[in-house]
Amino acid sequence: MDKDELWQSALAEIELSLSKPNFVTWFRNTSLASKKDGVAFVSTPSTFIKEWLEDKYNLLILKTLRGISNDIKDVKFVIKPITAAEESRTTKKKEVLSPILLTDHQLNLSESGTPDKETNLNSKYTLDSFIVGSSNQLANAAAVSVSKNMGTAYNPLFIYGGVGLGKTHLLQAIGNEVIKTNPKNKVRYMSSEKFLGDLINSIRNRTVEKFKEEYKKINLLIVDDIQFIAGKEKTQEEFFHIFNELYANNNQIVLSSDRPPKAIPTLEERLRSRFEGGMIADITPPDYETRVAILKAKITEKKLSELSDEILGFIASAVTKNIRELEGALNRVVMSCQVANIAPTLDKVKSILATTNTTNNKTSPKTIIKVVSEFYDIKEEDLINQSRKREIVFPRQICMYLMREELKNSYPFIGEKFGGRDHTTVMHACNKISKEMQINENLIDEISIIKGRIYES
Ligand code: ADP
Ligand code: MG
Repeated sequence: MDKDELWQSALAEIELSLSKPNFVTWFRNTSLASKKDGVAFVSTPSTFIKEWLEDKYNLLILKTLRGISNDIKDVKFVIKPITAAEESRTTKKKEVLSPILLTDHQLNLSESGTPDKETNLNSKYTLDSFIVGSSNQLANAAAVSVSKNMGTAYNPLFIYGGVGLGKTHLLQAIGNEVIKTNPKNKVRYMSSEKFLGDLINSIRNRTVEKFKEEYKKINLLIVDDIQFIAGKEKTQEEFFHIFNELYANNNQIVLSSDRPPKAIPTLEERLRSRFEGGMIADITPPDYETRVAILKAKITEKKLSELSDEILGFIASAVTKNIRELEGALNRVVMSCQVANIAPTLDKVKSILATTNTTNNKTSPKTIIKVVSEFYDIKEEDLINQSRKREIVFPRQICMYLMREELKNSYPFIGEKFGGRDHTTVMHACNKISKEMQINENLIDEISIIKGRIYES
């Protein structure tokens, strides 16, 4: 693919993720000036646009170019005023791009359904669409059992496991199943942050009693990511009372967390023993067969075009630890091939996924710090020292998260590496990033690029 084709494909993809005015303002009259040693030089018509692209769209551009041509490691911007003749040419070219195909395609990939206002349940998460394998068999069996025998089978049901392994899916599916069986059931799904936020509001508005009354009417209360109430005394206290009330009346409670109750720091003892009093089931990363089955299910569900078994097998072996990333990889393959208008071949898929395959490599704290500081263009010593500027704090948290996830370093060890910070600061950072990754797809991509670089270097 020559550089013009590359840039046109990139533009077609970028256009999908920006509003039209934004896209036109910032990307009109841009081109790919050259590509050398893995650096793509994007030519821009003015200093203003150059700076804006550098600031706001650097990552998007890098990510997109890399998705199409994985030898690109960096993007730099240059200024090159465009002549009138060129202007008319690029505008014309642009009109040819933006075919209807892309819009249709985008629709295919978009998440379906919005959560119900009353219950916060999204109907797309069902027990039927949850693929069962040895990694989630117990959790699934418990979920099925709880939705059949509310308040009697296992109370509470506590499901724990790493990010992107299907906890939210399963919790939501229980809620949907219970409503399907009996629409009169009062079901409420909440994240623990939402619970916390509502509680704070009710305290501010002096409506705590009403808040509690509301909860006591619920037949099935689902609280996702309960680990975030750790350390929040008032929230724990109110939750304890609500819990007891529901429990005493045989109403069902379902909870999830990224770790078992005993590993949640600063969780009050009385809550811990409540959480341990019902059924605890873990979800671990899926085995190969389950990953392939999940990919097949997602293709059917999203009506994507079929991929050969060979390609599915390759994707399933490239992404092993996180089902959300597995889905992301599938989307990336389908998307890249459609945008470039080519049929997916194994080689193409390999190159598209080159940046996500990080399973067999090794790294070190030093490399992580180096790559992150380069990626965010800040000094290594700023990352390590005391700066509290947001543009430093966030990358620092990412470093901590990566050291925890990739190297399994202990919290105190990580704190030590960052100028002797307290382990609770590190814990907070890791929680914050993994929480953010559950709602922010850009961050998932960002981190996957960073990981790519970490294992390349
Ligand atoms: P978690 O809450 O554990 O971080 P999610 O429930 O949000 O993970 O799952 C991430 C994505 O993976 C969701 O799109 C979900 O539908 C999908 N997923 C996870 N596990 C399964 C499974 N066993 N079968 C089908 N899809 C799954
Ligand atoms: Mg979740």
